[in-house]
Amino acid sequence: MMTYDYSVAERFMRYVQIDTQSDPNSTPFPSTEKQKNLATVLTQELRDMGIVDVEMDAHGYVYATIERNTAKDVPVICFCAHMDTAPDASGTNVKPLLHANYQGQDIVLPDDPTQVITTTSHPYLQQRIGDDIITASGLTLLGADDKAGVAIIMDFAKYVINHPEVPHGNIRILFTPDEEVGRGVEKIDMIKLGADYGYTLDGGERGALEAESFSADGATVVIHGISAHPGYAKGQDAQFHENSSAIY
Ligand SMILES: [Zn+2]
Repeated sequence: MMTYDYSVAERFMRYVQIDTQSDPNSTPFPSTEKQKNLATVLTQELRDMGIVDVEMDAHGYVYATIERNTAKDVPVICFCAHMDTAPDASGTNVKPLLHANYQGQDIVLPDDPTQVITTTSHPYLQQRIGDDIITASGLTLLGADDKAGVAIIMDFAKYVINHPEVPHGNIRILFTPDEEVGRGVEKIDMIKLGADYGYTLDGGERGALEAESFSADGATVVIHGISAHPGYAKGQDAQFHENSSAIY
């Protein structure tokens, strides 16, 4: 059997170093222009693989097609991942570290040694003994959500293109911005995408498949009143004045 030269880890460690943090307080689309830096790299790399139909649109979405190599009538399948990373922690100067042949030991993140990854806090790691583990260095997010999905789809594209003996219909690739701020699907052109079915590669344990989701609408509730500790709140309402407010 021919062995395949996987590029997924190398791609992943490169993509996480491109800062694509999205911003919930920004109204333009994409919410941060820097997300296009990764979109541009992915567009070029897909072209370098020999894919002709590749496009980054004005909103920063990347669409690409791996052309069918079978005459059989099969549905168009889309593989999708988001390029942005969460606003919760910095995505600047990410330093990915590869811990080869992990044996279950505590992983101390060198740039902040108070951050220790253990099998107790992350029991799933016990199932990954013998694997290579990639972490951040302690000062930033790693951004595996969802650069892992991006890297997997890129390596998958490379695999399919280099293995014409694997029959497939048209495959659509879609990389989106702004998923972490709830706007990832806002500007998708579904007609242009033209897929019958789709898979999103995002988070979770290896081999897991979610067939259902929910619609996550957000609401901001502003409560005007007074903020008082329950231990001594009795009678505090008498002191209510107009300027008191709390935002949750
Ligand atoms: Zn995600």
